[in-house]
Amino acid sequence: MAMVVPEGWPREVLSDDQHAAPQRTVIEAGQLVIHADFPLATRHRIVRELEQLRVDVSDRLALPISDEPIHLYLFEHRERYEAYAAATFPGFPSRRAFFVKSDTSLSVYAHWQDRIAEDLRHETTHGYVHAVAGNVPLWLDEGIAEYFELPKSDRRVHREHVDRLAGKLLEGTWQPDLQRLEACVDAGLLTQDHYAEAWCWVHWLLETSAERRVVLQDMLAETRRDPAAAPLSVGLARSEGGLAAASQDLVDHLLQLEKQATGR
Ligand SMILES: [Zn+2]
Repeated sequence: MAMVVPEGWPREVLSDDQHAAPQRTVIEAGQLVIHADFPLATRHRIVRELEQLRVDVSDRLALPISDEPIHLYLFEHRERYEAYAAATFPGFPSRRAFFVKSDTSLSVYAHWQDRIAEDLRHETTHGYVHAVAGNVPLWLDEGIAEYFELPKSDRRVHREHVDRLAGKLLEGTWQPDLQRLEACVDAGLLTQDHYAEAWCWVHWLLETSAERRVVLQDMLAETRRDPAAAPLSVGLARSEGGLAAASQDLVDHLLQLEKQATGR
């Protein structure tokens, strides 16, 4: 999840131990400055993987690399993480991890648990993207982060999303609709269905043809130049011969991923 906070945030927080940001270990890794409240090895697998992610995101999306620091605040215990998040960012939906962009900083907050690698890949992707492209539409920002949260070795196929969407499609309770996604502007209102569909469009764009990858890359480049750039649906309708054709191809891609998974 990515949140943009107004000027003056993060709010000044209570300075007692319970509400201090982690500082016990500080590691610099490329663009990342990692602050943990527990001992964390400089060459931890997750740290190396997050460094590599910077190159993957840049290559795949044809985005430049930035040196703007991204701060990762890692909490060993959930209670402390939750207390810190509630005091510092009141009103934010509670999540295992989140990304915050202010006028002056890019920050990720997370607590160390079983899915930390995936969570950090997701939130750090937001950081890498926002460091160079600040006006990416909400749905696309999340779709890109969902895509890169998967390890490369899984070809970034998001099993949960594939199952969810394929199931709903067969039930007749879901159809892709890019313009409906583009109309979502409130991060707090995004549901798992939105995340799943956003992932699906990004996976389809990046994994099915070089031409589609370029449509996405061009749109991101345009967004960097012009915050009011045309939405992706406009470019796709042109390149695919209409949005209905694009949606149908997306559905075919989804069903093929589902078939591969179930061996049917
Ligand atoms: Zn996100």
